[in-house]
Amino acid sequence: MKKEKIVIIGSGPAGLTSALYAARANLDPLVISGNQLGGQISITWEVENYPGFPDGTTGPELVELMQKHAERFGARIEVDEVTEVDFSKGPPFRLKTHADEIEAESVIICTGATPKRLGIPGEDEYIGKGVSFCATCDGFFFRDKNVVVVGGGDAAVEEGLFLTRFAQDVRIVHRRDELRANDRLQSRAFENEKISFVWDTVVDEIVGNGKVEAVQLRNVKTEAQEKLEIDGVFIFIGHYPNSKLFQGQLAMDEMGYLTVDATQMTSVPGVFAAGEIHDSRYRQIATSVGQGCSAAMMAERWLEEQE
Ligand code: NAP
Repeated sequence: MKKEKIVIIGSGPAGLTSALYAARANLDPLVISGNQLGGQISITWEVENYPGFPDGTTGPELVELMQKHAERFGARIEVDEVTEVDFSKGPPFRLKTHADEIEAESVIICTGATPKRLGIPGEDEYIGKGVSFCATCDGFFFRDKNVVVVGGGDAAVEEGLFLTRFAQDVRIVHRRDELRANDRLQSRAFENEKISFVWDTVVDEIVGNGKVEAVQLRNVKTEAQEKLEIDGVFIFIGHYPNSKLFQGQLAMDEMGYLTVDATQMTSVPGVFAAGEIHDSRYRQIATSVGQGCSAAMMAERWLEEQE
């Protein structure tokens, strides 16, 4: 059984910032990275709104810098997954990973969120065969091809713009006639010759034969249907929080986001949360970083009070 002062679950911006602050407070933090080091930003291409990078940066570059920064002060990052937690007794709290059993005096949960699925026929079947949730990962495979992007938020438009580097035609299919994405992204998309919009429309089915060949579209106002031949479908319709592990142990809202107080503490004293696991409102790298910093500072104070 490993004994740790503080364990950080997750390695996105919130987790890596918690790690940096905890390391600088001499808490010798252990980060359990989860299956994707860096979390969602590691699959985000352009990052234009993180302060300090006036010319923009990429998600993978930012992850690498944040990781190096935390490690420079002694944070240990293990590539593993937490498979079980027991917050019912403690501290110390018990955690299991694939490799270890750990006792932790305090925990910061930064497990983030996962892309939502449409739940339509063909979606699961053709993942990796034309259906994707990550333009950065898969855009390259669609050079000179025709793709559909589903969604109308920042992610859909931003990733749609990214896909124009490869695809010859990007159609953004949105269920309303107005985008949710911010104005700057909207203008860039409207100006881009490769992008067109299919308004008031949903995808009812993804059709293929070994790989994606078409999408079955339906206009929600007129109920008119259209089969559109296509090579790829990129789905960006929001996220759900990765909180299953904590069900029955920590308070959460009806959507599964953890509930935290003003000190980032969950319903169990000594267990903190930061980033998209509790924040469905802002969901920015900058806000996750801020919450990660607060969580580590409050965990440090809480640990001090226990001594
Ligand atoms: P989002 O803002 O929740 O947008 C989801 C989009 O998908 C909406 O347009 C929504 O339509 C549509 N949608 C949801 N469920 C659907 C379904 N079942 N079928 C069809 N369409 C569906 O999600 P997001 O774009 O992933 O962004 C999440 C957060 O991250 C936001 O706060 C965003 O600002 C932030 N973000 C920021 C940046 C950036 O600043 N550069 C980049 C990416 C993400 P409706 O509009 O009709 O609801």
